[in-house]
Amino acid sequence: MQRFEYHRAADTAAAIALAARAPEPHYLGGGTNLVDLMRENIERPRTIIDVTALSSAIEARPDGGILIGAGAKNTAVAEHRAIRERFPMLARAILAGASAQIRNMATVGGNLLQRTRCYYFYDDAAHCNKRKPGTGCDAVEGFNRIHAILGASPSCVATHPSDMCVALAALDAIVHVEGPGGRRSLPFGAFHRLPGDRPDLETALGPAELITAVELPAGAAGLRSTYRKVRDRASYAFALVSVAAALRIEDGKLAEVRLALGGVAHKPWRAATAEAALRGKPAGADAFRAAAEAELAAARPLSGNAFKIELAKRTIAATLSELAGARP
Ligand code: SF4
Repeated sequence: MQRFEYHRAADTAAAIALAARAPEPHYLGGGTNLVDLMRENIERPRTIIDVTALSSAIEARPDGGILIGAGAKNTAVAEHRAIRERFPMLARAILAGASAQIRNMATVGGNLLQRTRCYYFYDDAAHCNKRKPGTGCDAVEGFNRIHAILGASPSCVATHPSDMCVALAALDAIVHVEGPGGRRSLPFGAFHRLPGDRPDLETALGPAELITAVELPAGAAGLRSTYRKVRDRASYAFALVSVAAALRIEDGKLAEVRLALGGVAHKPWRAATAEAALRGKPAGADAFRAAAEAELAAARPLSGNAFKIELAKRTIAATLSELAGARP
């Protein structure tokens, strides 16, 4: 591990000021991903700025929305009564991830910044455009069973590892950030990037910008919602495919549908094509399967992951059927 300086920031302004002037800075939340990457010499920050003293408050607002401080632990979010009542898919998604010990350490801000679990990214002997831009991508012709089927590029076929972020994508969360240029708020769909020809750039964060909070708007509060994760073993495994879904049914028709997929793309994948196909349709297994077919029409499999296309279709249809109380 490379030597680094450690600083503990007392507040947001101090953290940003330090990050703006320090050599090769990196914010530290729970450290559940970053410290592993530092041990493997994949991440080599020269300055660590501990931001765990920053806000971890979870504020349930009277309008139905919730503001979550970026320092909130994953466990605290999953167990919060208002989140379980208003946004059950988010609690389920968090509890589907990692282990209890990791969830007790991991923060909301850090969860958004998790790096991919592509094997080649962690192997310093492999070619990887994300780790070393311009060196190639060994996953394209390599062992790519866990890799992307949507939105990938020849430069990178990695997937985003977070479960929580899939639910946040479906809920139209807002990411509040602060940096040397002031505060701004980003729609969740604009926070993570597709790989294009710069897979090393994963988010819309600018230099020294810090995530301060994640907001759950009231719009999706109280919807029937859930999160389903398909993986190789029952716990402590990343998603091959996951689905975050929410529905509102009126007179047997789908008045509102929110759908996002995990394990299939470089970022949490909002299934806008399927949502559009379902809006106003009668809630039923045929409509759910047709919407899944429409969403996955754009899928481009690699040599080892074509199975994910059918898996994603079936998981979408089964999850929506469960929510709607329809026969799958
Ligand atoms: Fe690196 Fe992305 Fe290729 Fe994996 S898929 S080796 S992370 S460039």
